[in-house]
Amino acid sequence: MSPRHAFPYLMALLLFSSCVPPAGHIVRRGSDAGIDSQPIRVLVLHSKSPVVVYSAKRMKLRTLRGSKMLLDTEHRRITLNPEKIHTPLVIESWDSPIEVNRKAYRGTLEIHNVLGSIDVINIVSLGDYLKSVVPSEIPSDWNREALKVQAIASRTYACYHILHSRSKRLFDLDATTSFQVYKGLSSEKQTTSDAVEETSGMVVTYRGDPILAYFHSTCGGRTANDSDVWSGSDHPYLAGIDCPYCAASPHFRWQTQLSLADIRKSLQRNSRFTGTIRSIAFRSHDGRVTSVTVRHSQGTCTMTGNEFRLLVNPDTLKSTSFHSKKSGGGLQLSGKGWGHGVGLCQWGARGMAENGKSYKKILQYYYRDGRIERMRGPIQSSPQPSHL
Ligand SMILES: [Zn+2]
Repeated sequence: MSPRHAFPYLMALLLFSSCVPPAGHIVRRGSDAGIDSQPIRVLVLHSKSPVVVYSAKRMKLRTLRGSKMLLDTEHRRITLNPEKIHTPLVIESWDSPIEVNRKAYRGTLEIHNVLGSIDVINIVSLGDYLKSVVPSEIPSDWNREALKVQAIASRTYACYHILHSRSKRLFDLDATTSFQVYKGLSSEKQTTSDAVEETSGMVVTYRGDPILAYFHSTCGGRTANDSDVWSGSDHPYLAGIDCPYCAASPHFRWQTQLSLADIRKSLQRNSRFTGTIRSIAFRSHDGRVTSVTVRHSQGTCTMTGNEFRLLVNPDTLKSTSFHSKKSGGGLQLSGKGWGHGVGLCQWGARGMAENGKSYKKILQYYYRDGRIERMRGPIQSSPQPSHL
């Protein structure tokens, strides 16, 4: 039977149906390889439609459990239909990236059927992952020290999620702004790849563990306390600090007009309420709107400032650092910065770097009491770092 015919036949024979995570570990304990060579699991696609996979060179498809070989081919496109995936699969190539719906990725793929949809998980080294993430999160032509800052912040953020998510789901992070943007091979740039390699293995730690290294575009003059943005989050290294370095950002100051009709529509879309708005009250702390109370014809609705920002439109209501006044049939908002405002201010890092500050000084400025350390062993909760 030719490989072309073997594939659908074997798939039809696979009777197992499972969404259970693989039993493997992220790292081999005792490995002396640097952490950048260790694997990270990134969800790159969740699709109800067929997924096309391609490699220009040799490509193997096997079952995750038992390693039963289903296909060994060259220069071929494989179409994976959700209804035919009955057991988790692994797709590997040699010396060649694998394309998923025409987007190329380094490393290998795992294919899972999750409630009738295909989840494609890219298993890639942490270093290769970062070479795509860093230029996706900041411009690759920024100051070299600022690129190193982003490389370390993104590595730390990824390590935190490897440590805290592995037992809960099939992947460590997804490829979107919900975590960090990962676009695969086509996004890599030489300058940011150099920054990843020059900072290889370096993370920011607090009491020995990688921190939850949040970052954002522009704080507007002062970063936010994480507790003012997300209820239940209160990390000492994410306390708000003054930032006089991000004034060059195009988002340093902004204004926008919101009509009550637009606000009502946004909140209705998210099932918050359906009544006519009578008043909106904002409560602030440390310069940020922390709570929004909307009184309307059917009752009262209260949410955090960050929830309000995300519900209304984070592209126009750019941050929770704003003041409002009544204007016509709505509100005139004057604000500062772009993003949630917690942790590293990227435009601030750029400003500090252009003022001659090193990546270490910049990171220690935004992540208070954080230490910059090189993790050499496996990614685990009690690293044995070498202090720099
Ligand atoms: Zn700033």
